[in-house]
Amino acid sequence: MPLRIALIHPTLGVPFIFDIASRNGIELIVISPDDTAEAEAFPAVIGCEFLPIYDAPEQALTSLEALHKKWNFDGIMSVKEPSVVWTAAAANRLGLPGISPDAAMAARDKSMMRRLFEEAGLTVPRNITLEHSNELEHCRSLTFPCIVKPSSGLNSAGVQLVQDFAQLCKAFTYVEQLNQDVYRHLSWHQSGNFAKVLIEEFINGPEFVVELFAVDGEVHALNCGYKGIPQGPYFEESVYLCPPDVEPTLITNIQHTAIAGMKALGLTNGPGHCELRLNHEGTPIILEIGARLGGAGCAHFNVEASNRIDFIGLYFHWLTNTLTPENWPPDTTGLSKAASSWIMPLGGSGVLLSIKGLDAVNKHPDTRYILDFSHPGKHYRPYPDFDGFLIIVFGQHNSPQMGEEYFKFLESTLKTHWGQQHVK
Ligand code: ADP
Ligand code: CA
Repeated sequence: MPLRIALIHPTLGVPFIFDIASRNGIELIVISPDDTAEAEAFPAVIGCEFLPIYDAPEQALTSLEALHKKWNFDGIMSVKEPSVVWTAAAANRLGLPGISPDAAMAARDKSMMRRLFEEAGLTVPRNITLEHSNELEHCRSLTFPCIVKPSSGLNSAGVQLVQDFAQLCKAFTYVEQLNQDVYRHLSWHQSGNFAKVLIEEFINGPEFVVELFAVDGEVHALNCGYKGIPQGPYFEESVYLCPPDVEPTLITNIQHTAIAGMKALGLTNGPGHCELRLNHEGTPIILEIGARLGGAGCAHFNVEASNRIDFIGLYFHWLTNTLTPENWPPDTTGLSKAASSWIMPLGGSGVLLSIKGLDAVNKHPDTRYILDFSHPGKHYRPYPDFDGFLIIVFGQHNSPQMGEEYFKFLESTLKTHWGQQHVK
């Protein structure tokens, strides 16, 4: 009998999960709060079910039990940040392998994350969490600049660097509104909603990322990537290059911090996506850990194309209790190539007319995949609002230096054209 996985709310434009499931003979049942019709055409998908996982999470858990009787799932998997907590609760309810629901919430709630890291002896940015505007007075004496962000945000939406108390108050109002409009809806936990406003010290050194996997408390770093040195005021995601062109001892230090972070959150099983920045002393400071594969296929591609580890395959094997000495512990010594993903900057806002340069990128020998999420004719607002990625380009290179050259090529080649500027 082929193994069956319930795949919770996948991004359909990202091919990796579907292709790898198909290669491994795994059957997928897509469970989504959106119209599921389109998903039926994807490789390995044998069924699609609608569940209101954000609108009515408790009811969706009950309905899932009936779906389990129908499909008899071997595993349940989420790849999107907002569905991580619900999926953990679902695995628990069905008695399937999963992340503990408390650890899943700790990885969604950046305020709780700060507390747990600190308790585990990790250095954290100085921070304060606010629930109401009348608490803003506590922030007068903060050191500026500092970061204001939603405590359960994603895609950098709402994250802002502020220079003084007046800007902080404005950013707070903005994030509070975003919480009401978006994040409260995506921040369900059985113990209550966890969407708040987090204000914290700005860590301004280079940014890194580590993809991780844990099995029964044994946590391994699968790679380390460089993410630029973003200076704000908004934090549009851009580059991801692994391995980074830095000293091996720094990479080890960053990976050890990420592993300690996983353990601090109780993420003793499953995937982790950890983002860190170096402070002025060169100490890696964790910004966050997501209890999932990093976004839009970037995590899987960068791990596989640089380190030859099939990240999604590993996840499938863990979910279905089919790990063997061949895939666990992962062989992280086989570094052969550099890999990158590059999220195209918006480069403007308003109505998207067109994107030029894709043909030239397609022809470049380092290009492996181009994912096109853009919708010409759609209105895109500037950051800190987020209306979706445009293009993600995945590359493979003979060295990290060639990866840096490739980024320059992409920046000068791909261009957006906008009509009707957005007026705020
Ligand atoms: P999201 O979950 O929306 O990705 P993050 O907390 O990861 O939110 O913030 C998005 C980006 O904003 C980070 O990748 C980083 O570049 C920047 N950022 C967030 N918090 C800080 C901080 N305390 N210091 C420096 N940069 C930060
Ligand atoms: Ca992030």
